[in-house]
Amino acid sequence: MIAVETFRGRAVALFGLGGSGLATAQALHEGGAQVTVWDDAPAAIQKARAAGLEARDLRELDWKSIAALVLAPGVPLTHPEPHWSVKLAHSFGVPVIGDIDLFFQERKARAPDSLAICITGTNGKSTTTALIAHLLQVAGFDVQMGGNIGTPVLELEPPSREAERRVHVLECSSYQIDLAPDIDPTIGVHLNLSPDHIDRHGTFDHYASIKERMIAASQIAIVGIDDAASEAIALRHSKGGGRTITISVVAKHGASIHVNGRQVMGSHGNLLADLSGIGSLRGDHNGQNAAAAVAACLQLSVPEDVIQKGLRTFPGLAHRMEQVGRIGKAIAINDSKATNADSTEKALLAFEEGIYWICGGKPKAGGISDLKPLFGRVAKAYLIGEAAEAFGATLGPAVPHVVSGTLAEAVKQAAADAKDAKFAEPVILLSPSCASFDQFPNFEVRGKAFRDLVEQLPGFEPL
Ligand code: ADP
Repeated sequence: MIAVETFRGRAVALFGLGGSGLATAQALHEGGAQVTVWDDAPAAIQKARAAGLEARDLRELDWKSIAALVLAPGVPLTHPEPHWSVKLAHSFGVPVIGDIDLFFQERKARAPDSLAICITGTNGKSTTTALIAHLLQVAGFDVQMGGNIGTPVLELEPPSREAERRVHVLECSSYQIDLAPDIDPTIGVHLNLSPDHIDRHGTFDHYASIKERMIAASQIAIVGIDDAASEAIALRHSKGGGRTITISVVAKHGASIHVNGRQVMGSHGNLLADLSGIGSLRGDHNGQNAAAAVAACLQLSVPEDVIQKGLRTFPGLAHRMEQVGRIGKAIAINDSKATNADSTEKALLAFEEGIYWICGGKPKAGGISDLKPLFGRVAKAYLIGEAAEAFGATLGPAVPHVVSGTLAEAVKQAAADAKDAKFAEPVILLSPSCASFDQFPNFEVRGKAFRDLVEQLPGFEPL
């Protein structure tokens, strides 16, 4: 745990005890702050009290003596409207920050030159964060990975002048950056921008400006430039004199690193890394993620052969194009995290033919209409959940499909069709394009159910 000592002896209010909230409160308490916590959920308050924290309705505090309001990233800061605790803080001129900010304040005080890499972007954050962490581990760094992935940042080991090989690798959501005015990583990675979470950020421009603030404060910026808003961010950073490494998977002119098919190339046409045959990094979208990770490692002087070795051993993340195993000559892929057509598009693009596609669940607006150009890759579709009928209508008579209803039935049918199909490597793909809530509590439970069902099939072989 990182004891937050920058608030020693001062009063701090904290709202939002779910997720990382409790760990943050404990880190402040440990560092000598007088922290008062609150939440809307009585159970969360009870848990905090049981952990020895002072829990009190923040409206009862003397706000003139509060040094900061620490907010959980899930609580609205600006849109649709500021949470009441934020309004209260603003009316007393109290800064509103989050746990990532506390980390960077602490780093500044303890070890300002320690290595910190922050990763953001609309898509690919978790994959890129996990990949950078994996590559640096292979290279012998003491990797502290967390933030929006896995461990809350303040539960990691602290930045330290003594631990020279220690590097913090932090996934940062836009909410977390919005609450981190002091964020200033050694390397900032920004992958891409597309409209998302606009409900929480008001406008696309505001959303983009939050991501840009992190890049602007980074010593070295690594930026994907395949969308116009991200390209503009990279351009402004480099015009301002900031060291900027740009990445393109669509042959954008002038990028420092290009991904050409499966090859990650430097600006002189030199091969930096080869992704061929790496099952955990299928698809162009993962080309962008891998190129960003390669760039980050090169900045830390990791040799190319060590990077290549690390890429080959990257296990990938659960539920994102996760390889489950083989049934006959078919390969089973769990992409349960794909809850909309945009994400499923990436999965369908990763395989040219022979896709036995399990999809459906609780549909999103627009359904799978945007995927029509890719239907030719689908050998057959197995439809589940509430979306089955509508998806069947979109697929139409040209795409073989069946209403399977449940995931169990779909897996059975898809495996029977795929295991000795005519394709070189048929793919049993769960990429639902839907939320899971009609049949499962969340996408993780849905993905695990798929994995279990596949593993129980006769002839299953792990990869
Ligand atoms: P995040 O943490 O940003 O949500 P993940 O790494 O968990 O991203 O990937 C989630 C999904 O987003 C993947 O299943 C894939 O469909 C899509 N995706 C991943 N990387 C990219 C990328 N670089 N560009 C576009 N889409 C991506």
